[in-house]
Amino acid sequence: MITPDIPAAIGNTPLIKLRRASELTGCTILGKAEFMNPGQSVKDRAALFIIRDAVKRGALRPGGVIVEGTAGNTGIGLALVANAMGFRTVIVIPETQSEEKKSMLRLAGAELIEVPAVPYANPNNYVKVSGRLAERLAATEPNGAIWANQFDNLANRQAHIETTGPEIWEQTSGKIDAFICAVGTGGTLAGVGAALKKRNPRIAVALADPMGSAIASWVTTGELKAAGSSITEGIGQGRVTKNLEGAVIDAAFQIPDEEALPVIFDLLEHEGLCLGGSSGINVAGAIQLGKHLGPGHTIVTVLCDYGTRYQSKLFNPEFLRSRNLPVPAWLERRSAIDP
Ligand code: PMP
Repeated sequence: MITPDIPAAIGNTPLIKLRRASELTGCTILGKAEFMNPGQSVKDRAALFIIRDAVKRGALRPGGVIVEGTAGNTGIGLALVANAMGFRTVIVIPETQSEEKKSMLRLAGAELIEVPAVPYANPNNYVKVSGRLAERLAATEPNGAIWANQFDNLANRQAHIETTGPEIWEQTSGKIDAFICAVGTGGTLAGVGAALKKRNPRIAVALADPMGSAIASWVTTGELKAAGSSITEGIGQGRVTKNLEGAVIDAAFQIPDEEALPVIFDLLEHEGLCLGGSSGINVAGAIQLGKHLGPGHTIVTVLCDYGTRYQSKLFNPEFLRSRNLPVPAWLERRSAIDP
């Protein structure tokens, strides 16, 4: 089979059995390998749907500009799809995000604007900066400029309603008891959750939330409350985005980094899976959910992006020590060989 272009290569990712997580719980725990998308993350799907929707609405014409505020992965997806379809990208990113993601964005030709990481309530927050910039460019760019606005643009959730969710249903032949993942924009959790519950309302949908995020408290008490912090990137949320609004979430687990990181390290050491931090929160969440449900259940989660995207942080003993986080012995040995 010939794939005509890179946008057409997005999606249809494998569902991989996670051996240790399954053994530990007596469940079948499966990971949707989103790092196998062309931009190496789950966000390629949202990027493609957002661009397609803007083209369909006539907001974007060849040569037009796509502006977005992103922790990086959505920007990488947007930049690659934009290159394939003849658009330009301007990406606003908090400076705290990994250098690997920033250099990939520059490599893909995105114009990168780094801004200090400040809360959403601050007018200088990266999302708000990108919105204002898009408004200015829309008035001056001859071929149009759009704000991708992944947090509140429902084309994001639609990508998961139309692709990720149905793929999981078909790959498991409908034999799935629960789905769990973290929330950045909420597109993945709300979209996959809706698609699965439409096919079988008994499928449980659960949230794996990092420390510092307010969504676990919102799910369990109805109040947005956050405490603590996490080194994971691209997840955690302090408000109910449009993509999250109306999502049916049956349970929530808050996962500290100290619990997620050993999962990431074990997956690389024993299963050959090199994953980013949000995948660690997701798999650790799936293990918690498996223990809660009991043996014999099938649980699906998301392997959001590839670990090399965070080599300077997650897989850097010095960085981990500086945050008082665990460093596996094998990582000390490997990084000693490859300075
Ligand atoms: N993991 C990573 C690494 C991400 O970049 C994102 C998106 N920001 C997510 C998970 C969360 O996905 P969503 O935006 O669909 O909630």
